Amino acid sequence: MGSTIILKNVAKTYPGGQPALRRLSLTVTAGEFLVLLGPSGCGKSTLLRMIAGLESITEGELHLDGALANDLDPSERDTAMIFQNFALYPNMTASENIGFPLAVHKQDPAEVERRVQSAAAALGISHILGRLPGQLSGGERQRVAMGRATVRRPSVFLLDEPLSSLDARLRARLRLEILSSARKSGATTIYVTHDQAEAMALGDRIAVMRDGILQQVDTPRGLYALPANAFVASFIGTPRISLIHGTVYAPINGAMAVSLGAQQLPLPMPLTRDHQMLRVVQGNPLLIGLRPEAVRIADHARATEFERPLTGIVDHVEFQGHETLLHLSIGGQRADVPPQALSDLPTRPARGKTAGLARRLISLAKTTTRRRSAPSPVGTSVPAIEANSGELVVRANSGTHHRRGQHLPLLVDVRSLLVFDVRGERVSPDPTHIPDL
Ligand code: ADP
Repeated sequence: MGSTIILKNVAKTYPGGQPALRRLSLTVTAGEFLVLLGPSGCGKSTLLRMIAGLESITEGELHLDGALANDLDPSERDTAMIFQNFALYPNMTASENIGFPLAVHKQDPAEVERRVQSAAAALGISHILGRLPGQLSGGERQRVAMGRATVRRPSVFLLDEPLSSLDARLRARLRLEILSSARKSGATTIYVTHDQAEAMALGDRIAVMRDGILQQVDTPRGLYALPANAFVASFIGTPRISLIHGTVYAPINGAMAVSLGAQQLPLPMPLTRDHQMLRVVQGNPLLIGLRPEAVRIADHARATEFERPLTGIVDHVEFQGHETLLHLSIGGQRADVPPQALSDLPTRPARGKTAGLARRLISLAKTTTRRRSAPSPVGTSVPAIEANSGELVVRANSGTHHRRGQHLPLLVDVRSLLVFDVRGERVSPDPTHIPDL
């Protein structure tokens, strides 16, 4: 059975280096399959290696099954780890490689044989057990490595980008095998990847990290529908969310509206619970997030009470087979994800140069946003849209033909807008409307 893993305010600073992890707290329940997701260098491997006992913990506590484990030797932790560049013993057969962790503990050879056979059968490699690693394909070698890691039946299974050296097809197949073998074993599994699609395919929950800071832990669906900030929103989902500089404002005689630069989206009155929150940020520079599902091409079907018209100019048509992605200009300014707010680091208040830099970054973000998002009046009949700014991506039926420069009438479901402040924090409370995914 899997162990519960609890991390309490765990931090890591390598000698002479920047902090690699900053006061990270996370509980992984027994038997859970958790994915650690984030860009390269955000501290995922460091965290995994700390749980395995291969890296010391600078600050904070690690508990395995309720007991403090900071200083436990790796061999006392009942964890097994697989790396990207796993190495098999070249002079041992696949069978000997898999059985090695049991053999070193001098287990009964008949029992070793039985366990090797059972691990190999689960991984579909019974027929290659007599071969040396040099006689195996990349996928087979990876399966042998998995067999070697699982044969001891560890209570914690740690995988560090185990499939990234394999081709896409094999990766997709092997990750399902990893998932099913983890489920069967009941081990608590932590799987590190920088690939959001892999994370979405695998995780019961996903922990998203950035610059050593945990951003959000949630189910794939929760992360997609309710991202805590603009970084998570843009990291999760293909095609990416469109982030556009905007504001919320209330004209004297009109409905409150979201301005996206040249065009506006009036909000339904009375405001929904979610939109009520937008009153608080009226007039502030904001980042408006539109997932492709929030926008559809206007057809003969009537707009619903939550849909608002918008016009887009087609910049680029991306044919994907099952669908076509249209990159459109809507007369707004595409926004970047704001930098991690260093002044908000959970470790200790930033001082000196770092704090100054953080303040400068935030004030720069504020001024550039303000400059870009001056609202124009509601009801502009022909929006001034410059082509080729490519700020909105919309899905279209691949059977329909679209061409560059075409003006396209769109409908935006305003319930699906994700609104972030200039620091990237999501403004809205949990929306009552979660898009059907
Ligand atoms: P990830 O797995 O997300 O790519 P890592 O945990 O490997 O990230 O690295 C996090 C940060 O710690 C990076 O800035 C990296 O350069 C640094 N780092 C990792 N290992 C060491 C080490 N042994 N010594 C010094 N710095 C390290």
